[in-house]
Amino acid sequence: MSKHKYIEKCINQFAEFTDKENPYTRHVFSADFKKARTWLSNELKALGCEVVRDYAGNLKGILKTSKDTCKRVLIGSHLDTVFNGGRYDGIAGVVAGLSILKSLEENGINLPFHLEIFDYLGEELNEWNTSCVGTRGLTGQLTREVLSRVNRDGDKLIDKIIEEGGDAERLFAGLTDVENVIGSFELHIEQGSILQNSNTKIGIVNSIPTISRHQISIMGQAGHTGTTSMTDRKDALVSGAELIQFINKCAKEMCHKSNRHFVATVGKIDVSPNAVTIIPSSVEMLLDLRVVDSKLREQFLRLLDQECLLKENKDNVSINVKEIAFSKYVEMDKSLNSIIQDCAKMNELSAIYMDSGAGHDTAHLAKFIPASLIFIPCLDGHSHCPEEFAEIDDIVNGANLIETAIMNMANQLEFNVNGG
Ligand SMILES: [Zn+2]
Repeated sequence: MSKHKYIEKCINQFAEFTDKENPYTRHVFSADFKKARTWLSNELKALGCEVVRDYAGNLKGILKTSKDTCKRVLIGSHLDTVFNGGRYDGIAGVVAGLSILKSLEENGINLPFHLEIFDYLGEELNEWNTSCVGTRGLTGQLTREVLSRVNRDGDKLIDKIIEEGGDAERLFAGLTDVENVIGSFELHIEQGSILQNSNTKIGIVNSIPTISRHQISIMGQAGHTGTTSMTDRKDALVSGAELIQFINKCAKEMCHKSNRHFVATVGKIDVSPNAVTIIPSSVEMLLDLRVVDSKLREQFLRLLDQECLLKENKDNVSINVKEIAFSKYVEMDKSLNSIIQDCAKMNELSAIYMDSGAGHDTAHLAKFIPASLIFIPCLDGHSHCPEEFAEIDDIVNGANLIETAIMNMANQLEFNVNGG
């Protein structure tokens, strides 16, 4: 079977393990998720791997080398999806790993290191208000507080991880399992349209931006909508609406100033009392901010503070801005990236360097090991929706690129060993 046909078969197979009422939903820990993992596990075994569930609940197939070495190379992404998600986000990366195993087997290649193909547990934001469970766990970044969180059904996160093979003692101890890793690769759909618009096949990710969430609370005064004159009002929603406009305008200006990633979105808003005859007394909004350049980020937050002060005086409301989540800017490994760039040339694939707009498993790994993230185009940038689509040929290109990079690492290692 050609690589193209094999990848297509796997993508279609995983799409079967989704909620038929709400395509293509496969939440972490769900029955469909467990079915998909069972299929993956059988496939990994058929391709010559030893299948293991690690203490963080990750599922991996290890293709062991016959050489006497502890060195490891990782390829992975995630099988879980968001509600009504797509067939490619995460899945493309896992399937690329399978296709590389298949090709190594067909060509009888014995690598000079162990190759581990991962389904990192639960990458998407879950009912416990956390994401990247497996990669955080693997790098000792799951805190006791997060592990002890309970969802609406009363289930503790740690108990669900144990169901997937996790080990509470090791997780609570914050242990890591990234020793001897000499490289990590993740193939992912771009989830944006930079590659499509520039007619480029490969995006080599420079960095994953600082991602932060800010709660903006505005307090005004409720009142009768019929009797309170327009001049006497302290309408929290009017102030909030103007603030959203300001955030949007300011982010656009910042984005023009820099060539790097800068986006700001107010996507959640609660209005009280939310009634047609009452002037809104309070508004709670959540701002999602993703920025590569830390100076611009500081500048933006300073301007936002200034604007809030101005609004407080002008509108007679009080405004409070509080940072409630923060994950720091991470750079991908420069020497792995340059190997990838060379290999893209060898494979005659057009490639550009770019920043990621979304967080990924690799963001957590890259803090500890040489890690790379490779994007392929997806149709019109659609993602986290059933319309999400990637050409099989583009997944093949990405898989071939990683395979070339791995062979390149293998040859260098062999050369170093044999050449003393
Ligand atoms: Zn993903």
